[in-house]
Parts: sequence; C-alpha cells; structure tokens
Amino acid sequence: MIAILKSGVTDQQIENLCSWLKKQQLDVHISRGQYTTVLGLIGDTSRVDTSLLESLDIVQSVTRISEPFKSANRKFHPADTQVCVNDRVKIGGGTFHIIAGPCSVESQEQILCVAKAVQASGATLLRGGAFKPRTSPYDFQGLGTDGLALLLHAKQETGMPIVTEIMNINLLDAFENVDVIQVGARNMQNFEMLKALGHTKKPILLKRGLANTLKELLMSAEYIMAGGNENIILCERGIRTFEPYTRNTLDLSAVPMLKELTHLPVVVDPSHATGMSRLVKPMAMAAAAAGADGLMIEVHNDPARALCDGPQSLTPEQFDDVARAVRRIREAMA
Ligand code: PEP
Ligand code: MN
Repeated sequence: MIAILKSGVTDQQIENLCSWLKKQQLDVHISRGQYTTVLGLIGDTSRVDTSLLESLDIVQSVTRISEPFKSANRKFHPADTQVCVNDRVKIGGGTFHIIAGPCSVESQEQILCVAKAVQASGATLLRGGAFKPRTSPYDFQGLGTDGLALLLHAKQETGMPIVTEIMNINLLDAFENVDVIQVGARNMQNFEMLKALGHTKKPILLKRGLANTLKELLMSAEYIMAGGNENIILCERGIRTFEPYTRNTLDLSAVPMLKELTHLPVVVDPSHATGMSRLVKPMAMAAAAAGADGLMIEVHNDPARALCDGPQSLTPEQFDDVARAVRRIREAMA
C-alpha cells in the first residue's frame, strides 16, 4: 500500500504519521520527491483503515499495491535508485557504466592486462570470476580465493571497482573488499544467500535466472531489500528458449519493462545472452538504445585460450570498438 502525501507537509507531520503506522506493525518506507512524499507500507496492510488514512489532511491519496514486490516497486519509490559503488561510480539515474573483464580470473598477467585495456576504452568497473558456476564438474572451477586476491590486486593497480560472483555465503568475509557482489543466474533463487546479502550494505549485481520471469527476478531483489540492503543492480543476461543458435535469448524487452516496474538500475550482459563474440556489439548497442543503465561484457586478452567462455569473449580491440559504438548510441539518444 502507498500513501501519497500532500505537498508542503512538514517533517514532524511525516514522523507523526509514520509512528502511528508503525504501531500497526507496518514497515514504512519514505520516498521524498521534489514535490511529493510517498510512504510505502509493508506488512499486513489488510487491517489498515484506508478511508481513515485517506481522510487525514496531509494525505493526498492511498492505493493498494497489487504486485508482490513492494520495496523494489516503482510505485513505492518513483525516482530511479542510484547505486553508489564509490564516489565516481554511481549506477542508475541517468548514468551509463560498462563492467568489463574476463569470465574468470586466470593469472595476474591476464587480469591486469585486461583491466588496463578495458579501462583505457572506458569501462568503469572490472569483472572477473574467482568462483565459477560451471555446468560440468570437470571444467575449470575458478581460482577461488587466489582469484579474489588477483582481482583485488588489479583493483589496487587501476583504481577500478571490482565485480565478482559469490557462490557460497560462508565465504562472505572474503568479499569484504569486493565492490559489487554478483549473484549469478544459477543462484538467483538461492533465498538463504539473498537473505544473507540483505544484511550487508554491499551493492549486489543480481542476474536473472536461466528460466525466471521478471516477477521472480524482482521477488529475489525483494528478498535482499527486505533485509535492509537496497543497493541492487538487476542484470538481464538472456533466458533459455527453444532457439539453439544462440546460447540464450536476450530478452531486451526486459529493460523497458523492468524500468516501468522498478526503480532499480538495469544492466544487460550481451556476452552470456548470445554466447558469440560477434553478436555482442549489436546487442550492446540495442541494450543501450533500449534504455539500459549499463552493460556487462566479457573481455579476454586471448579468447581462443580462455579457460571459460572464450567464444563469447571480446579481444580488447573488439571491446574498444563496442564501447565507441555504445557511446555513439548514447550521444544520439541524449
Ligand atoms: C558470469 O557472469 O560469469 C556468469 C556465470 O553469468 P551467469 O550467472 O549469467 O551465467
Ligand atoms: Mn562467463
């Protein structure tokens, strides 16, 4: 349920109303806009006397929210959320950031070489998997905590914030200096993990599951937000369909749909979505044109020898070309 307040209400009036609502066992989420303040009420709102609430002289209107996601709902928080990774990197609310780097961290030379190259081409965050969710147990599983250390070293060398995937919540302490924790597609509905991440303040990159609906993605975001962590970046990375030519099917309509449904930023990963390096550029451009807040792109210094996802990885030169094309799209849209 949301209560839209009249313009000109004082902080004291808002506080009085909030404490009255909290006494009714409701959580109150306050969103202050330029002209109006929206109170989002979470909990069992069935007992709230809507007409009484509506009759208060500071209340403009009261609406019940039918969607099961509340904190993530655009109706609760009309303005875009900006996820602050550091002082310079803020995702959402009109900015555009590219997260780039290898599928997995393989060596110090590899991660440093890729980090410096993508940074020179305009990427503002460095990605790299240390713990890899591989379909086969016989495939390279990532360097684990050694990989994290290499990533942290690359962060120190370049100043780029880092994004890396967590697979085991028991290792959360090892992610202390990771700037953005990625929840991979396969863990999108690992609810215990989502709850634990909700108790941190870390920005979370939440990837859509292989066969999950947008509502399910938003409910997973809601799990994290219910714990108090609102720093969530959603990622469309393709879904499984009957089409075998591409690794997945990029659901681009997810971008404008999510933008309508939620205030959280949305980025697109054209690498996992297509599985083919030559499709990354057109899909990256299309994602920017569709209104995405950023991109996540896999880049490797030697894709043919990559230990993971080589066929979809761009060389640094190809990445530079994609970053330029995306900038042109953004300029054309401005
Ligand atoms: C990744 O980004 O490295 C990854 C494994 O992606 P996804 O979870 O989308 O498959
Ligand atoms: Mn990958």
